[in-house]
Amino acid sequence: MAERELSKSPGITLSPNGMRSDALLQVQDLRMHFPIRKGFLRRVVNHVKAVDGVNLFIRPGETLGLVGESGCGKTTTGRCIIRAYEPTSGNILYRRNDEQIVDLAPMGKQDLKYYHREIRMIFQDPYSSLNPRMPVIDLVGEPMKVNKLARGQELEDRVAFLLRRVGMRPEYMRRYPHAFSGGERQRLGIARSLALDPRLVICDEAVSALDVSVRAQILNLLEDLQQEFHLTYLFIAHDLSVVEYICDRVAVMYVGKLVELTTTDELFAQPQHPYTEALLSAVPQPDPRFRARKQRIVLEGDVPDPANPPSGCYFHPRCRYSDGSLCANEEPALRETIPGHFVACHHAEKLSLRGVAVRDIAV
Ligand code: SF4
Repeated sequence: MAERELSKSPGITLSPNGMRSDALLQVQDLRMHFPIRKGFLRRVVNHVKAVDGVNLFIRPGETLGLVGESGCGKTTTGRCIIRAYEPTSGNILYRRNDEQIVDLAPMGKQDLKYYHREIRMIFQDPYSSLNPRMPVIDLVGEPMKVNKLARGQELEDRVAFLLRRVGMRPEYMRRYPHAFSGGERQRLGIARSLALDPRLVICDEAVSALDVSVRAQILNLLEDLQQEFHLTYLFIAHDLSVVEYICDRVAVMYVGKLVELTTTDELFAQPQHPYTEALLSAVPQPDPRFRARKQRIVLEGDVPDPANPPSGCYFHPRCRYSDGSLCANEEPALRETIPGHFVACHHAEKLSLRGVAVRDIAV
């Protein structure tokens, strides 16, 4: 997303390092290329371009969805933001409480410690993300202990407070994870992520492993906590109906690149990228009246190998609107076609794509 494109939105100014005045976090041209090594000497013969030039921003207090098929790079993007990975290149600009802007991308471990308190992660699998040998008080209280923020009775009171906030009884704090259901374990994971009063929480497929009946409860809980603790969420998911339920805006990824970014309502009603149109056509329709008139777009071919992506637009071999020349040879830039709607497609303005009415779908 070039600076001139970012500055199109009315009322938005850019800092000297290109950060939007309305952003809490802004990712600029983020790349995460994993080397492929071969032979006795383990020489690098190629790279898997898991994240390949991603640009996005998150406003304070909003929920930004990051969606795409499995392996598209959305989780890797989240892990780069929290700096579990050291990005190959790019910037991760973060606005501190005192309005100072820092770049997390090149930061060393020592400096990152402070930001790891403000940016936390909730993981997909509530079974493996909690240590089975630790009682709840240690699981939820550990981040506070490690950061020397509370101990003894103060720690216990804080854990009790967090358990109540996530809908669990403080009396459970001496129990171990195996005593809880999947939904309850995810509540514990959420309580743990809130222990350090974060500002930004990255929810990585946070409800994907849960039963449908529990999913809506956890989504509602996340929404309530967002209000209460003034949280900002990056919500990574492959399920568009979940994203529709909780996100204010949505970013769509395909083979390591962002192809569309706009408000949830607009993405569902008026997608501008052919890949988004195909994803939306696969969203289940609970109402048979809408189901009957909905046509699923079946994409031909496989998702390209991120180690050997196609030339031009990465989506061109599967795109039914490809012109075969420009699309095959020139990579489309992510650009703002109308205020707040960013698309990486040469022909976005000419295409008339089919969306889905938001009321048609359900979690
Ligand atoms: Fe399809 Fe061409 Fe747009 Fe790529 S640039 S999505 S191939 S129309």
